[in-house]
Amino acid sequence: MKSTPAEAAIRYATAMNTRPVNLLDHDEAGLRAFFASIGEQPFRAQQILKWVYHQGVMDFAAMTNLGVDLRRRLQELAVIEPPRVLREQVSLDGTTKWLMGLCDGGFGGGNAVETVFIPEPNRGTLCISSQVGCALNCSFCSTGAQGFSRNLTTGEIIGQVWQAARALGHERNGARRITNVVLMGMGEPLLNFDAVVPALSLLRDDLGYGLAAKRVTLSTAGLVPGIDRLRDTIDVALAVSLHAPDDALRETLVPLNRKYPIRELMRACADYVSDKHKRSVTFEYTLIDGVNDHPEQARALVKLLRRMPSKLNLIPFNPFPGTRYRCSPEARIREFQAIVMAGGLIATVRRTRGEDIDAACGQLVGQVLDRTRRSRMVRETGLTTIAGTLADGASR
Ligand code: SAH
Repeated sequence: MKSTPAEAAIRYATAMNTRPVNLLDHDEAGLRAFFASIGEQPFRAQQILKWVYHQGVMDFAAMTNLGVDLRRRLQELAVIEPPRVLREQVSLDGTTKWLMGLCDGGFGGGNAVETVFIPEPNRGTLCISSQVGCALNCSFCSTGAQGFSRNLTTGEIIGQVWQAARALGHERNGARRITNVVLMGMGEPLLNFDAVVPALSLLRDDLGYGLAAKRVTLSTAGLVPGIDRLRDTIDVALAVSLHAPDDALRETLVPLNRKYPIRELMRACADYVSDKHKRSVTFEYTLIDGVNDHPEQARALVKLLRRMPSKLNLIPFNPFPGTRYRCSPEARIREFQAIVMAGGLIATVRRTRGEDIDAACGQLVGQVLDRTRRSRMVRETGLTTIAGTLADGASR
């Protein structure tokens, strides 16, 4: 049976007892280092980037400006391997969701994550995942309920964009073009910092997807040291999942709040926007019936955010099987929005998209190979307080 170039490279590398390099795991700096390490000119990095991200080409044989010898070497030493699309679902409103199989378990049998494209009149937003599952166990999120399996590699993160762009026809100007990318899918991106940053850099780089800083958004549940590190590392937009104006309530929704309470989170956000390139933070607030949607809580939110250059996204809670929470009634949502706006905040209600295909916030589940690893992740990341609060988080 004839094998694919990727399989041949893997066989070669196994025989040599090394792993082939997945070129999607590297941003420009990483690729330059790779080419230098094999005795090639670093500018080869630019040629590869253009083939992969501008032309959508993955096959070394088609990269005609690389020369026959270099193409042959690359076929032996490297692969270009994105996740595989296992399933595509298109909603009546045009929202598209893909289940992406990861290469552990030989694609399909192993881990998988979800990626969602949300078309709007003037933009197309791609929502990508950064981990398989999530360790944070926010009580209103179905990804949290499924546990944590592992971090994605850079190639698996940027490969979601590559696959989505291909499925959408690699159109650079059409209506379905990807204009914005948000790390709001499965996982906590700041707990996978080292793989996420090169993916952000490929999204920003002109040789990659060339997106402006304000069009690449990282969303975090509030990992304070990660926010500080991100500020010093790369220019992207920051979104913070707040969901409550006080610590007592926030702890029941986002257990991470026990380790990084609101005061410290606000300090990190203020420092983030003090950088001249980063003008504002988006706060996400999922409205849950009778939990965090009271007018009193809206007024407390105004007090908390009044002085912060910020926007507020109000997200009606999306139910999922097994949850005890319900979405706030429409009148409550309107009242909440009216109060925060009267208080001077800029607040938008995010309408649910892709409802018929379970593509909304907090509904992404994918497939998790190993559901038992959350506690290990919690130990490794030093988030010991979370482990102790898993039960309370779920019992409220
Ligand atoms: N871990 C990151 C990114 C993933 S969550 C973070 O916490 O920000 C993306 C957004 O969806 C977050 O604001 C999250 O709070 C919200 N969300 C999660 N579950 C939801 C649900 N069931 N309904 C509405 N929004 C939800």
